Amino acid sequence: MTYKNFTIETDADGIALVTWDMPDKSMNVFTVEVMDEIEKILDQTVADDGIKGVVFTSGKSSFSGGADLTMIKGMFSMLEEEKAKDPAAAVQKLFDAAGRMTWLWRKIETCGKPWVSAINGTCMGGATELSLACHGRVASNAKSVKIGLPEVKVGIFPGAGGTQRVARLANTQDALQMMTTGQTLSAARAKAMNLVHQVVEPGELINAAKQMIKDGLKPVAPWDEKGFKVPGGGIWTPASAQLWPAASAILRRETAGNYPAALAILKCVYEGLQVPFDTGLKIEQRYFTEIVQTTEAYSMIRSLFVSMQELNKGARRPSGQPKSEIKKVGVVGAGFMGASIAYVTAAAGINVVLIDRDMEAAGKGKTHSEGLVAGAVGKGKMTKDEGDKLLSLITPSDDYGTLADADLVIEAVFEDRDVKKAVIEKVEAVLPEGAIFASNTSTLPITGLAKNSKRPVDFIGIHFFSPVEKMMLTEVILGKETGDKALAVALDYVAAIKKTPIVVNDTRGFFVNRCVLRYMSESYNMLIEGVPPVMIENAAKFAGMPVGPLALNDEVAIDLSYKILKATVADLGENAIDPRHMELVSRMVEKEERFGRKNGKGFYDYPAKPAKKHIWPGLKDFYPQQKPDAVNVKTLQERFLATIALEAARTVEEGIVTDPREADVGSILGFGFAPYTGGALSYIDGMGVKTFVELCERLAKDYGAHFTPTPLLKDMAAKGETFYGRFDPYGEAAKAA
Ligand code: NAD
Repeated sequence: MTYKNFTIETDADGIALVTWDMPDKSMNVFTVEVMDEIEKILDQTVADDGIKGVVFTSGKSSFSGGADLTMIKGMFSMLEEEKAKDPAAAVQKLFDAAGRMTWLWRKIETCGKPWVSAINGTCMGGATELSLACHGRVASNAKSVKIGLPEVKVGIFPGAGGTQRVARLANTQDALQMMTTGQTLSAARAKAMNLVHQVVEPGELINAAKQMIKDGLKPVAPWDEKGFKVPGGGIWTPASAQLWPAASAILRRETAGNYPAALAILKCVYEGLQVPFDTGLKIEQRYFTEIVQTTEAYSMIRSLFVSMQELNKGARRPSGQPKSEIKKVGVVGAGFMGASIAYVTAAAGINVVLIDRDMEAAGKGKTHSEGLVAGAVGKGKMTKDEGDKLLSLITPSDDYGTLADADLVIEAVFEDRDVKKAVIEKVEAVLPEGAIFASNTSTLPITGLAKNSKRPVDFIGIHFFSPVEKMMLTEVILGKETGDKALAVALDYVAAIKKTPIVVNDTRGFFVNRCVLRYMSESYNMLIEGVPPVMIENAAKFAGMPVGPLALNDEVAIDLSYKILKATVADLGENAIDPRHMELVSRMVEKEERFGRKNGKGFYDYPAKPAKKHIWPGLKDFYPQQKPDAVNVKTLQERFLATIALEAARTVEEGIVTDPREADVGSILGFGFAPYTGGALSYIDGMGVKTFVELCERLAKDYGAHFTPTPLLKDMAAKGETFYGRFDPYGEAAKAA
């Protein structure tokens, strides 16, 4: 029998090597067709008396990325359509669909012949669950081998036996930690957790897997053997009595109750370990069916899985532009940002010329990369050769002539119009025809900067976030005259350095900083009202923000906030800001000399390590303090999320953001907007625009006109629309644009 996605070779010992290699994909993923083929292979190998056992591996450099997004999308649209007809039948159908993988993997486990999974590379989600259902697991010790169950990161959980098998193999604490955080494991760590049996050299993988079968591997899972005991003794032990209350408390601390899928993992393990294995699988299937129907799962899968992949694959890339080959990038300005941009560019294998005003400054920029490489080599994350290769790609220089063969130049000089103008002119004097100029400005509109350019069509913004090495987002900004080629090159570059792009039109603060400023300015309002600062920070965290607004302001620098407020007044007039904010920030900077983390004094104090930062006690003397009991923490949470979401909605209304996927992904990757909501616009869609408008009206009445819902929101509320409906990224209008 032949298969589209698999080949089978049976050797003289009767061991069938099943190799998964999907012809039309760069990575193996589970589709309905793949599962059908696995079932046929299973039936075929069971029926064939000549086959003694099966080794299951991948023909690609990775093992498998897990479920295919089109399958998941299909599950949601099926649910929506069926629910409209018959809600109970729809849920039953979902339950059955959710169980397809569960029971297929169980069929492998109980087929009577030994199966061994030979894990040669990244192995995620359903692929890890399939491997766990095999009787033997061998992993290669290559650095690329990563084993994980990352489902919780997109609002669901391992629902094909993962919660039951991991908890019956590893100790409960490790099992819970692995699944509730979605962490990935090296092969060695997976072995230490008892999740794989052997770790071998890559070239030994298949032989070792076959040898397990030849050595008489029993085709029975441990839990199907009589007398099986859960590691650590199960739920009703003194150790468990200590572990479970702590596990619930830790989960609460880490998630503030915002992630139903994480809680479901705890429930599946707690309940599943008390019953026979098949009953455990059923419990998991039921919770999975429930979780898939939550708004959190829907929104997180849409933004963090589907949209993110679509944006990474160039959803906003203009059609008709050939893929650009970026061989050489010039980075002008080797300071804080430029040095890091040079590093991530070289890490992508691209040649970089790093230019500054003199050789000393340029060389200092390269020192940053040398430090990072030394750290990575020291930690074994990079070999010495890889590090040397990376560094050899960065050439510090003070000579603009070296840009004569650059494909792209990124400017990261001082945030000063005149300095940037001079740099644009110098670069353009040597930059070849057709090469693209990008500015990393964080506040200056691109259209204005492009006025200094002789070829504004080739002028674009590529806005990085700090720390560049860690932040996954880049904001690509279109000036009024930016052309398609510039956009295509910018997106190809962002793809090469493996970051996620959002494309926005030009405006003051672009998208991310506009939203972040709202977050911080709402915390100023709360300080002024006398809300205790610690409550402000905690409320933001309960709302799902990773960093409190005051801590964030310290990172950004309070003197920078002061500069931005002053620039806003200079450009837009006194009424553009709240004078009480200016008073607060100028007092912090001018009177108290508290600039933020950079001088160890901000809204927080930063004592020497190991002491932890804590809110500066003097802050509460600024305003008469409310009694903590009088503060409604839930309202504080709503204010933070609503003020950001409103700003995101304004950017859509003004045509700055044209695709809701970008506002959502940008808000999560850019500043950690409560990921369980799926992002700033999904937060609105998730509760319904009408409910959001009512919330804003209530907040406007109590906390100020900045909460007044916009005309677009009111119109959408009246018509019962959503952002993804009205600005459908897959609709005809979007395709035509
Ligand atoms: P920085 O002061 O650390 O670095 C600027 C560098 O530019 C310095 O090394 C300086 O010597 C060099 N420079 C100045 N004039 C030059 C010239 N004429 N020719 C060549 N080099 C020159 O500043 P930074 O924080 O790296 O910011 C750079 C740009 O990035 C700014 O536009 C800023 O708005 C933007 N940005 C900064 C951040 C951030 O977090 N710091 C984030 C996003 C964007």
